[in-house]
Amino acid sequence: MIITTQKPLDEILDFLSPYTNILIAGCDGCTQPPRGLREAQTLAQLIELAGKLRGKNFNIKTTTVPKQCDSYITLTTLEPQVKDVEAILSLACGLGPQTITQVLPDLPAFPAQNTVFMGTETREEDVIEERCAACGDCILALTGGICPISRCAKSLLNGPCGGTRADGKCEVDPEKDCAWYLIIKRLEKMGTLSALEEIQPPKNYGQLVTGRVSKY
Ligand code: SF4
Ligand code: SF4
Repeated sequence: MIITTQKPLDEILDFLSPYTNILIAGCDGCTQPPRGLREAQTLAQLIELAGKLRGKNFNIKTTTVPKQCDSYITLTTLEPQVKDVEAILSLACGLGPQTITQVLPDLPAFPAQNTVFMGTETREEDVIEERCAACGDCILALTGGICPISRCAKSLLNGPCGGTRADGKCEVDPEKDCAWYLIIKRLEKMGTLSALEEIQPPKNYGQLVTGRVSKY
């Protein structure tokens, strides 16, 4: 899932202030916490109230889209709802406002969220942790299914930095497990610790050039 945090209300009000008729579009996809219709309605109430305090009367409609990162779904969901709308406020991750801009180019689309990271939710502990950095060259087969790029504070490729604490925590953030401590324990359990004898060359971060495209 994609972790987002809501932008400060003042920031949202600043970019909405030139407009009156606003459509707030939630996304039922993968944001966490959820950012669907109910959250859109709650935000609409907040914006209307905060707008009044600034002397501005917004006219806000709310809706939600199954997946704002899908151009077809976004267009077919939003297009019938934008008559008289002057601007769209998206509750999706950063993909949402960009898809809206692409499919409804005559309307300004703004983000209500800051997109923070991709993570896994561990329901038993009520926590979401970053688990993938989308680095383009997955090495999980060598590291026991534990990602050192997203989970080691230094993104080390060839074992721990030497700062691993005796309790298995990371020297950078003692609240967190050292990723390499977890990897070594896991490989020991699987009987594949010898996989670490092979030195991993520096990752090809050339694959991280932005603007990547994947064809079906
Ligand atoms: S727009 Fe973002 S949050 Fe919504 S479904 Fe797509 S990736 Fe998930
Ligand atoms: S202590 Fe472990 S997780 Fe922290 S930076 Fe060093 S190797 Fe990475």
